Amino acid sequence: NTFQDLGLNEDLLHAITDLGFETPSDVQIKAIPILLESETDLVALAQTGTGKTAAFGFPMLQKIDIDSRTTQGLILSPTRELCLQITNEMKQYGKYCKGLNVVAIYGGSSITDQARDVKKGAQIIVATPGRMKDMISRRLVDISKIQYAVLDEADEMLNMGFKEDITDILSHSPEGKNTWLFSATMPREVAMIAKKFMKNPQEITV
Ligand code: AMP
Repeated sequence: NTFQDLGLNEDLLHAITDLGFETPSDVQIKAIPILLESETDLVALAQTGTGKTAAFGFPMLQKIDIDSRTTQGLILSPTRELCLQITNEMKQYGKYCKGLNVVAIYGGSSITDQARDVKKGAQIIVATPGRMKDMISRRLVDISKIQYAVLDEADEMLNMGFKEDITDILSHSPEGKNTWLFSATMPREVAMIAKKFMKNPQEITV
């Protein structure tokens, strides 16, 4: 199993070589072909440190239209640290995707600066739920055209009380988008979120 076998494009393979990744991880082998080849919802049971950011990040980078400045992908994560880490990874993975803009939205930092970055045209937004909801309600960010929504560390987000924020955020996104949910555990609350927001999700476990 190689990254070439997974169907990734030259820009991504080039970045992967630069990063020194030699072989895809288990979650990458399972998730990437599914997400590249079909427009589907996905539930993935995977711990942190398994390479799950690349498992959803590579397909999202390959599928969005980078020539467009419309926001097409939204990644929700529980904490500011994780939000910044995912943003950093996405920028590295997309370093040869010319014109790509990935913007981080999180609390405890200037909303004006974040709004300005979004306004320049972000194809991908990585956000924590509280600030994201706030910026949507102030019409500083528009997710009405997203095609892909990732709920990363869904169990953690629910533990932290973000259920209503997530519901509110997703109510502003299109019905036809694909939702990719990643979680280390599958308690009842996560299963309920999956049931509420997803249509016939494919399921993988690592
Ligand atoms: P994650 O689980 O997404 O937080 O990834 C954990 C770490 O593994 C990150 O620092 C990634 O850069 C790295 N990583 C992801 N995929 C691979 C891979 N296929 N080979 C080597 N390192 C990887």
